[in-house]
Parts: sequence; C-alpha cells; structure tokens
Amino acid sequence: MVVEPRVKDFICTTAHPVGCAQNVKNQIEYVKSKGAVKSDNAPKKVLVIGASTGYGLASRIAVAFGYGADTLGVMFEKESNGRRTATAGFYNNRAFEEEAHKAGLYAKSINGDAFSVEIKEQVIETIKADMGKIDMIVYSLAAPRRTTPDGTKYTSVLKTVGEEYTNKTLVLKDNTITDAHITAANDDEINATIKVMGGEDWIDWMQALSDAGVLADNVITVAYSYIGPKITFPIYAEGSIGQAKKDLYKSADIINEKFPNIKAKIAINKALVTQSSAAIPIVPLYITLLYKVMKEKGLHEGCIEQMQRLFMDKILDDTQVDDNGFIRMDDWEMRDDVQEVVAEHWDTVNNDNVKDIADIDGYWEDFYNMFGFKIDGVDYSADVDIM
Ligand code: NAD
Repeated sequence: MVVEPRVKDFICTTAHPVGCAQNVKNQIEYVKSKGAVKSDNAPKKVLVIGASTGYGLASRIAVAFGYGADTLGVMFEKESNGRRTATAGFYNNRAFEEEAHKAGLYAKSINGDAFSVEIKEQVIETIKADMGKIDMIVYSLAAPRRTTPDGTKYTSVLKTVGEEYTNKTLVLKDNTITDAHITAANDDEINATIKVMGGEDWIDWMQALSDAGVLADNVITVAYSYIGPKITFPIYAEGSIGQAKKDLYKSADIINEKFPNIKAKIAINKALVTQSSAAIPIVPLYITLLYKVMKEKGLHEGCIEQMQRLFMDKILDDTQVDDNGFIRMDDWEMRDDVQEVVAEHWDTVNNDNVKDIADIDGYWEDFYNMFGFKIDGVDYSADVDIM
C-alpha cells in the first residue's frame, strides 16, 4: 500500500514503515559519527522504559551505539492490522532491533503497559534469562493515563494550577496565532497527573528490579523533565504537569536514599517536537520561536543530538549538575542570548509575522519525520508492506 500522512489535530494517524526505519538509521549514524564513549565505566546492559519514540528511542540508540550496550526496551505501541498502519513507535522499534542485531548487540523489546505488574515481571524474567544484571535504567514514559496496581485509573491533565491562564498559541491545523485559554486543574486532576507522570511508578520499577536481584552493584537510573522559560511556566513548570515533575524530583531523592547501589538522576531536556509535546497548548508556539533562534545561532539540537550529548558527555560525570543536582540538557535553550530574542518575539508574534520569526516549517518537518514522512531518500510513491 502507498502510505500517506493523515494529520488530525496534533497527531498523525498513519506512519510510514520505511520512513520510520530510515529515521532510526539516521539517528544511529549520528551517534556513530560522534564516536564511542571513552569511559571504562560505561553501562553495558540497559533497560529503557518508553523506548520507541522521542527521547526514549534516542536514549536507546545513544547507549547501544555509543556505549555498545545491550538493551531491553519497553513501549506501548500498536501493530498493524493489515488495513491501518502500525504506530510509528512500532516501526521505529523494529528498525532499531534490526540495526542493533546487525551490529552484534542484544536488543529485545516488550510491548505492553509499563505501569502494570505483569510487564514488570516480564521484563525481570527477560533480564534473568538473557542479560543477567542491568546497570542502567532510562525512565522515559510520557503517558496520558495510568492504572495503578490496585486497579484505579488515573488520567493526567495539562492545566494550570491556581489561576486560569490565557496566552498566545499556534493553531497547528492552519498555522495561525490565537489565544489559548487554559483552565485551572482541581485537586483531583492535579493528583491524577502526579499519579501518571510523577515518580511513583519509577520507584516501583526500582523496587521490583532490586527485589528480583537483577541490578548490578552500581546502577544509574535517569528520568527526564522540562523547566523552560517564564512564558511556559503556567502551563508547564507551575502547571499540573510541573507538579508531577516535582514529584519525580522527590522520587529521585527517595530512590537514592532507599537503594545504595542506585544513583537516580534527573536530566532537564530541551523543548522539542514529540508526540507528547505537540499536545501541550502554548508550547508548540514557543518551540517554533525557539527553533528559529537556536538554528540561527547554530545551537539547535533534536532528540538524538540531546541524548548523544547526555550519555556521552554528561551522565557518567557526577560533577556536571546544577545546584539542584539536575543535568541541564536545556543549557543551550536557556542561554540568555537565546531567551532574550525568544521573549521579544513572543511579545511581537502575530499572524502577519509568524512565518518570519517562527520556524513553522521546522516544526512541521520534525512533526512529519516523527511518523516517518518527508525523510530524505524515501520513495513515498512506492508500495510498502505495512505489517
Ligand atoms: P514520547 O511520546 O515521544 O515517548 C513516550 C514513550 O513512552 C513511547 O516510547 C511510548 O511507547 C511509551 N509509553 C507511553 N505510555 C506507555 C505505557 N503505559 N507503557 C509502556 N510504554 C509507554 O515522549 P517524549 O517527549 O520523548 O517524553 C519522554 C520524557 O521526556 C517525558 O518524561 C517528558 O516529560 C520528557 N521531556 C520531554 C520534552 C519534550 O519537549 N518533548 C522535554 C523535556 C522532557
């Protein structure tokens, strides 16, 4: 079948298998071009939770092709039923495994709900059977909902906390600027968002892996967060998702206290187009303004550049942290010379100048690329097997 993009709001409901595979290969080539890590302490057996798209996929590629690590991935993706394509993450994951195997690396993946006890057990069984012990766990879940082990279902919200908030946003379907009005989350919604995107499940994973005896003597685990500038505070850092991230930070402290053999770290990553960030109001406009400035200054990075730099240059060096102990992968995004221009453009952006001061094309390029479309070298007129 010839697969074409079908974009609905902030999601594309089709994915191109060949394009997704090419996207993964390009990311692998990037990591290889930067060279392998020089440290003898580099992890060699890595579990990546949320391994199929965005930052998790890029992390897996960075550790496999930068450390030469064996990897086990966990994801929540849909296979094709023969009529509809699979999700992009499914094709990405398959391509990753193929390339890892070709390079002589162990790579297996488990497709299911990472929040569940069953998937944790399946992962532990797989580690015991194939890997022995693991020495790194990347926790990169971005999920809209979670069922806790007692069967309660929680749905996260992207709302403010306290006051309602109105600010500019980019309407993705026609690239126009309008006002987004964001209501305040109530206590139940804030608690639910913390349940889904906070650190409780991260701690559960560490407990389960520790109890099963599958952790090495020195283990690093990392989870990701975002802080960003004042413009996005109400919807992100100070919003409902920000409360969940504060819980994630506390969870890192809990893990560090409770498990002497685990070093839990938080990396604050750059704002980038991913399936999750496209859903947040206001953030896509900020991203287009940011991309424009960072590209002009030669500072722009995508997920793979960010994760290559995190795993090769920063994570193994305990001194590369800020006063809170966070690894700042948003260091270039938050530079004063970048943020001053972004803030100025935020104030002046309107429908007449948006195409000049915002990188709308760059946003859409990243968006289509995530689903395997508009990737150089792929023949999109060709029939492809979508299974
Ligand atoms: P993403 O949507 O691209 O990836 C989410 C991953 O989680 C996918 O592999 C998906 O299959 C998996 N997943 C979701 N629900 C699951 C479940 N129930 N069970 C198993 N797997 C599941 O998201 P992303 O943007 O890469 O986000 C990853 C992390 O990075 C999040 O913590 C996010 O807050 C953080 N982060 C993102 C940005 C950004 O701009 N995108 C910036 C900083 C930090």
